[in-house]
Amino acid sequence: MKQTNHKGVIYFKSEKIRVSHGFSTRLGGVSKEPHLAEMNLGKNLGDDPASVEENYRRMASAIGFENGSIVFTNQIHSNIVLTVGKADIGKVYDCDGFVTKEKGVTLAVRSADCVPILFYDDKARVIGAVHAGWRGTVDRIQQNCVRAMCELGATPEGITVLIGACIHKCCYKVGEDFCNTLYERLGRELTDRYVSPDMYADLVGLNRELLEEMGVRDITASPDCTCCKSDLYFSHRASKGKRGVMSAFISL
Ligand SMILES: [Zn+2]
Repeated sequence: MKQTNHKGVIYFKSEKIRVSHGFSTRLGGVSKEPHLAEMNLGKNLGDDPASVEENYRRMASAIGFENGSIVFTNQIHSNIVLTVGKADIGKVYDCDGFVTKEKGVTLAVRSADCVPILFYDDKARVIGAVHAGWRGTVDRIQQNCVRAMCELGATPEGITVLIGACIHKCCYKVGEDFCNTLYERLGRELTDRYVSPDMYADLVGLNRELLEEMGVRDITASPDCTCCKSDLYFSHRASKGKRGVMSAFISL
């Protein structure tokens, strides 16, 4: 994944995906409050609505999608992935992921430590976007996205996946709740592999393995930990919850 600067907007994209897409950082926006500066894309975090609107306009211009073509998620830490189209533009849904094969529909998922994942099948021209918090990860939202894409004509081996910056094992100390749920849903082997004995969890590795289980082979993950690099990314944990939010976008 490559860091890109478009008129001061810093974001990440990959040559592997040949349609408009990118992961925002916290740089290049107009939000003023120190904990929201600069590129806050959250509408309910106490930011000036005009600043958030301008930030979306800048991201649209940088990445190359039409501002006003976005379908939004409420992000309820579910494993729900919805198939959307032009009729859904501007709407907000109780889910954590979208797929589409319609041109001009921008899929967006927000994050600030959780795992943002973008999906693309070049041959079938189908795209997807997922917000994988730990609950969504454990409940296999990444696999649900692959399934929904396949219903639109994609194939697992044809799908390219980008995993954006998120909290990494170095900083992601988890509790009993996490371990018990992981153990219950995914079994001992995966729990032992992705949670260290001192309770640090590797969400990137877990998402990667669950995608590989579905037959997806082309997976690229950002090497960055949002919590370690909180000058470049918003991090829920680094800021103790007082922070803005980033977004990943993809559009055919
Ligand atoms: Zn870290």
